[in-house]
Amino acid sequence: MRKEYSHYLSETVKDLQPSGIRKFFDLASSMEGVISLGVGEPDFITPWNVREAAILSLEQGFTSYTANPGLLELREEISKYLSTRFSVNYNPANQIIVTIGASQGLDLAFRTILNQGDEVLIVEPAFVAYAPLVAIAGGKPVAISTSPENGFKVTPEQIEQKITNRTKAILLSSPNNPTGSTLNKKDLEKIAEIVEKYDLLVVSDEIYAELVYEDEPYTSFAAIDGMYERTILLNGFSKSFAMTGWRLGMLAAPKALVEVMLKIYQYTTMCAPHMLQHGAIEALRNGYHEVEAMRSSYRRRRNYMVQTLNQIGLPCHNPGGAFYVFPSIKTTGFTSEQFAEELLREEKVAVVPGHVFGESGEGYVRCSYAASMPQLQEALKRMQRFVKARNLV
Ligand code: PMP
Repeated sequence: MRKEYSHYLSETVKDLQPSGIRKFFDLASSMEGVISLGVGEPDFITPWNVREAAILSLEQGFTSYTANPGLLELREEISKYLSTRFSVNYNPANQIIVTIGASQGLDLAFRTILNQGDEVLIVEPAFVAYAPLVAIAGGKPVAISTSPENGFKVTPEQIEQKITNRTKAILLSSPNNPTGSTLNKKDLEKIAEIVEKYDLLVVSDEIYAELVYEDEPYTSFAAIDGMYERTILLNGFSKSFAMTGWRLGMLAAPKALVEVMLKIYQYTTMCAPHMLQHGAIEALRNGYHEVEAMRSSYRRRRNYMVQTLNQIGLPCHNPGGAFYVFPSIKTTGFTSEQFAEELLREEKVAVVPGHVFGESGEGYVRCSYAASMPQLQEALKRMQRFVKARNLV
């Protein structure tokens, strides 16, 4: 007789928890009239010329597999893009993979570098997929907590404290999801010293690199002196070009690592969808002005959110990038889960409780401002009413 299914499950995955974001949003989507500040995706539709290029590709019958790492033409565009925007040079022939989103890039990176029990340092609060992906690859995620007092930035001392003889890599994410915190060139240089000292690798998730709102230019970790050889760089189309549903990302790394990743990719994925790769080529060739327009729209909304949340008594650090604010709800006396649940029930505003991004996220909620200005205004009006009604602040 067949045993309970739990009997057959792999030890590695059986205790994985579903994403706290999804769980919450299933609840929100079952209710009417909810304003959602919950989703982590742009409120823009992919620029028309990009959609048209994919439609044309389909019309012309590009329905076959492509080369495993993606169309060479697309890898060439990616190489140009990374070099023009971030001053990092990758050979399109053997250093770039077109991935199924940065999500797959993360998975490939961890599977390629981790042995059972190897530790990866993760700066928290962090994107919900990081720790599970490390665990799925057999590694051990090790959290480093940050707080708004330090702009949610990790310090080299904090990193050093967590290093053991099992530490293999640091996962850096700038701008960060959920805090929006960014690491500038100086911050990265200090981290680089530790990376060098302890002979580590860095998985650098730069998916929000185009969405930065300060004047200082964005610095890729791979552009820091000596770090190119130690960095697995992840970027993508989802956030910058409003292409989340296309599931296209880019991975760039030293040739010796890409070679191994390609074997995993070859057996698990084969290639990214052919016709969508034609859309991505168009995005990189002729889509950049739209990125700039979206960036300035997000910047306006960030300014509005930060100012208003502080005014209504929910202290909010000013994030340098991405499209999230991460206000503190500590003075309300609620846990972040209670706050989010009550706010949803009473005022029909959906935010994400901070604890889903790691322990140090407790006491905060993530609000995405990838929503229209009228929606944001209404959501904050409701949040103000919510906190006032209870004298919560
Ligand atoms: N990294 C971060 C920090 C993210 O927020 C997300 C998406 N929410 C991803 C990676 C995954 O992006 P993609 O759509 O390219 O898989």
